[in-house]
Amino acid sequence: MAIERTLSIIKPDATKRNLTGKIVAKFEDAGLRVVASKRIHLTAAQAGEFYAEHQARGFYGELVAYMASEPVVVQVLEGEGAIAKNREVMGATDPAEAAPGTIRKEFALSKGENSAHGSDSEAAAAREIAFFFSGLELVG
Ligand code: UDP
Ligand code: MG
Repeated sequence: MAIERTLSIIKPDATKRNLTGKIVAKFEDAGLRVVASKRIHLTAAQAGEFYAEHQARGFYGELVAYMASEPVVVQVLEGEGAIAKNREVMGATDPAEAAPGTIRKEFALSKGENSAHGSDSEAAAAREIAFFFSGLELVG
């Protein structure tokens, strides 16, 4: 499998509860490496642009308000099959459906406040990494 990079976000519910380190440890334990990292507080406009693909969905307004409610930690994770591995470590979107040991099973509060975001494809990873980081900030 190829070495990939993917975009991870530790979401507001998790930064608020001081879970950043515990979540990063899950990724590192799975063999993923943090090659870029920063803590930022998104504006609603920035959160809305990031999640533009969900604009037509009923949960969009709530999602945007939530993502701008508290700081987030955005990271680029690198490793073998990083895109799929990141999503495996996160678990299903709804914590009620997430597998034991996953981030969302252990930490998520609800389907909306679900502690982590991860890119879902190579195209999404490329767009989402470029949304937050310049090439100079990616240090493998
Ligand atoms: N979301 C929600 N209600 C839903 C589906 C999604 O609040 O019914 C939120 C949730 O925070 C989720 C995000 O919108 O993580 C993006 O949804 P997506 O389907 O892309 O899930 P993900 O890729 O994050 O698992
Ligand atoms: Mg998604």
